Amino acid sequence: MTELVLATRNQDKLREMKILLKGLPLRIFSLSSFKGIPDVKENGRTLEANAKKKALYTSRALKKLCVADDSGLEVKVLDAKPGVYSARFSGKGATYKSNNEKLLSLLRNIPPSKRKAQFRCVIAIADKGRLIGIVEGKCKGRITCKSIGKSGFGYDPIFMPDGYKRTFAQIGLRKKNRISHRKKALVQAKKILKRYVLMLRQPSSGRQG
Ligand code: IMP
Repeated sequence: MTELVLATRNQDKLREMKILLKGLPLRIFSLSSFKGIPDVKENGRTLEANAKKKALYTSRALKKLCVADDSGLEVKVLDAKPGVYSARFSGKGATYKSNNEKLLSLLRNIPPSKRKAQFRCVIAIADKGRLIGIVEGKCKGRITCKSIGKSGFGYDPIFMPDGYKRTFAQIGLRKKNRISHRKKALVQAKKILKRYVLMLRQPSSGRQG
């Protein structure tokens, strides 16, 4: 069976991605299964650049098929910030809590109607250093005035998806996985992977491994 490596060490994202990629004829591994692969510096100016860099680097280093994602929260009134800087929004040593606190404090005087935001997830797929595809998923909603809920990770307690009166951290992983940015990007990634694996299985594909 073809092996697929999810190029992330973020256990929260891994959990979501493994559930969402179920059903593919692939053996799924995470980066933690491989020793000595240095972390890729996420220094791109866009989510696309980082996802591409991670997928290409990891797939080349491991000589395997890899999926890498980069995701972030884009707040309209902050000109789409924190965006690509979502993980380290509150500076060195940032935690999910300190990032949420910084965002809530920046939006302190902003009324509910102007607290629009979206999560965006970009997924890049690469095989042995060759880009196979790049896709994107978005989930629109708004930032609450305080942190609510215990499940999920990151900005989940302060993000309320459109059509819901509860935050991502209140609705739980199963519901989140039905509507999230990651789910939408993975649905497209799954189609590309399915086609690609089928192509690899054709004797005439001319590709090795
Ligand atoms: P990445 O690991 O560089 O993609 O960092 C993305 C950051 O965006 C994470 O550390 C979280 O703070 C935030 N983020 C991405 N996806 C989600 C999500 O589904 N829920 C909450 N926060 C998220």
